Amino acid sequence: MKVTVFGIGYVGLVQAAVLAEVGHHVVCVDIDEHKVAQLRQGVIPIYEPGLAPLVEDNIKAGRLEFTTDAAVGVEHGEVQFIAVGTPPDEDGSADLKYVLAVAKTIAQYLNHSTVVIDKSTVPVGTADKVRLMIKAELDRRGVDIAFDVVSNPEFLKEGAAVADCMRPDRIIVGTYDDKPKDVIRELYEPFNRNHEKLIFMDVRSAELTKYAANCMLATKISFMNEMANLAELLGADIEAVRKGIGSDPRIGYHFIYPGCGYGGSCFPKDVQALIRTAEQNGYQPNILHAVENVNNKQKQRLPQLVHQHFGSDLTGRTFALWGLSFKPKTNDVREASSRVLMEQLWQAGASVQAFDPEAMEEIQRIYGVRDNLTLVGTKEAALKNADALIICTEWQQFKAPDFDMIKQQLKQAVIFDGRNLYEPERMARKGFSYYAIGRGESV
Ligand code: NAD
Repeated sequence: MKVTVFGIGYVGLVQAAVLAEVGHHVVCVDIDEHKVAQLRQGVIPIYEPGLAPLVEDNIKAGRLEFTTDAAVGVEHGEVQFIAVGTPPDEDGSADLKYVLAVAKTIAQYLNHSTVVIDKSTVPVGTADKVRLMIKAELDRRGVDIAFDVVSNPEFLKEGAAVADCMRPDRIIVGTYDDKPKDVIRELYEPFNRNHEKLIFMDVRSAELTKYAANCMLATKISFMNEMANLAELLGADIEAVRKGIGSDPRIGYHFIYPGCGYGGSCFPKDVQALIRTAEQNGYQPNILHAVENVNNKQKQRLPQLVHQHFGSDLTGRTFALWGLSFKPKTNDVREASSRVLMEQLWQAGASVQAFDPEAMEEIQRIYGVRDNLTLVGTKEAALKNADALIICTEWQQFKAPDFDMIKQQLKQAVIFDGRNLYEPERMARKGFSYYAIGRGESV
């Protein structure tokens, strides 16, 4: 099939590459000229396991193209994906200006019937707005062209995006009627061979499904963080509690890891956006407010522990920081706990020596060159002459480090672990002051 994808961020690019891989001919349109120029040369602007070879191979095979020319994209697609960002507006609601701009662009150039597929995460009612926008523009042009709008939210996880798109758990599609279903079935046929993954529903339910899924996951995390804080006060170990409750199949082990707060481009903004949607409809979403509040507080947990150990004034202190991305296997640092931590350390007068396997370029781009931030090439180099080690992201390579080496390099044997990677008793035996999340009294 001929597919057009508007927006080549994490979602659009991965989706485009995966669709090209199974044989569709995909044209990607983005307004970012630099990104398009890079991609045409096979330079991938994001880190995502398995993505680079997929993009390269499909460019070579002629199934994946990149352009800034929207007219070319609209002309090409039997289906047109909208996969642009929906960042939070000032009041936290999702800003739809990029989505609606694409809708207008599609209508400006459309000369054949098409199915517009909304992949961006958008509030309930957005497909109606997209439909109205396209209709208004077609009317303005004085043309009558058949089009459908469907809602097809994306559930990929950054860090496993290619695998998630290749083998989705489910494909949610919201439609107004039966007309576009065949096109959608054909589009997703290669991903739907073994058992039925397509779940058709009405448009509003599809739009809400995405928010409900992310808010449920965020709720699990905040719930565990609350239990962790309680465990700390009660002298219990949240890791034992986690295993204890996870073994109940009704609860399960997924998404019940306590830590230093969730981040990323989705959970914080989607929780906020659903809160605004609820409030705009006269409903107070008490659980969602609590989820957000607990998370904001949890991001203060590591800075609090640092102050507890070193006092309020950190002037002259240097902290080694392992992990900058909001989670492993991505270079995404949007809303990452590491940023809250670093900014607080800087405010208290400290410097940071940080290492991350993938996210250092992003951090450099955001904070620029500054005296109190040194980005180093290895986790070992980050430790050199630092007062303590702080861990914000659970990258595999941080899980079994050489503790003797850590002790040698640090000025003091102190570790603040925002991801509970080590055993407190072992750390105590090795002579570390070890602060983790919800693991009884800090040792
Ligand atoms: P992103 O910010 O990484 O990429 C968005 C891209 O859209 C950018 O390259 C931007 O230049 C481009 N763009 C903006 N306006 C455009 C226009 N008029 N025409 C063409 N391109 C345009 O965003 P993302 O992380 O890929 O997220 C996209 C959407 O998918 C969001 O709604 C997000 O909530 C949702 N989502 C994201 C994830 C994730 O893990 N990142 C997962 C599921 C859903």
